Amino acid sequence: RGKKAFIAGVADDQGFGWAIAKALQEAGAEVSLGVWVPALNIFETSYRRGKFDESRKLSNGKLMEFKHIYPMDAVFDTFADVPEDVATNKRYAGNSGWTVSEVAERVEKDIGKIDILVHSLANGPEVVKPLLETSRKGYLAALSASAYSLVSMVQRFGPLMNQGGAVISLTYNASNRIIPGYGGGMSSAKAALESDTRVLAYEAGRKYKIRVNTISAGPLGSRAAKAIGFIDDMIKYSYENAPIQKELDAIEVGNVAAFLLSPLASGVTGHTMFVDNGLNTMGLAT
Ligand code: NAD
Repeated sequence: RGKKAFIAGVADDQGFGWAIAKALQEAGAEVSLGVWVPALNIFETSYRRGKFDESRKLSNGKLMEFKHIYPMDAVFDTFADVPEDVATNKRYAGNSGWTVSEVAERVEKDIGKIDILVHSLANGPEVVKPLLETSRKGYLAALSASAYSLVSMVQRFGPLMNQGGAVISLTYNASNRIIPGYGGGMSSAKAALESDTRVLAYEAGRKYKIRVNTISAGPLGSRAAKAIGFIDDMIKYSYENAPIQKELDAIEVGNVAAFLLSPLASGVTGHTMFVDNGLNTMGLAT
């Protein structure tokens, strides 16, 4: 039986979510997406116009397909949580059913049970500000979009998951080490995400018999990373200092995700796995 996957956090072909989708399809899974509401229109237009066709190519020559594409905003759990200004915002008003609980309901109705849940999203409105200058609002927004969103997804999608299923998210080593420039509470959000991965592994492991892991990825020039501003420097730093001196390809993260989400990793849960060319192991810049 082909596995069924839901991936939240794909809005172009440049990020980790796309690469995970690809690795999962190469392995025979059926993939549906949750796309951030404000990004959905441009994603669907680009998709229809063939802008992603080159990167949709699978090794068997076929193009990657998505079973369903849902609008989603992982900052809201139920429609009652949506403030008036968002509900009436013109980028949101044309869409419906995009809060986490509503997307889970739609997935259950359209797909039924799923095996794989992927959280590949983050947002920190004050990411360019040092923690010393971050407002309470900005800090909490980073935690809400980048960490609580995983908790919310496991709460709502856990009941739809087959036993033996697995959840994965993406984190960054700024949780453990000081990475100047990764601000706005994003380092705090990643620390929370990694801690929550352990607690969710226990709670959802006992309750739903599913596994929960996170991948700590090296730098990639995705859209989200470009918004932070220093990604080119990070890529260069990693190239110069990591044990493996090459640029990280998103598909390397996709492949490890496919492994962690497969029965090959049936004994692995609550784990933060580095896919960073080994940069995290260095104690001294070279
Ligand atoms: P990306 O831009 O491809 O992915 C981020 C996605 O999050 C986007 O599609 C965006 O639309 C979506 N998003 C933002 N707010 C959302 C919300 N409220 N609800 C739903 N979706 C929302 O960039 P990426 O770098 O591939 O990021 C994916 C994950 O990888 C993130 O968790 C990021 O922190 C993590 N990560 C990235 C790097 C890097 O260097 N790029 C390194 C380590 C970890």
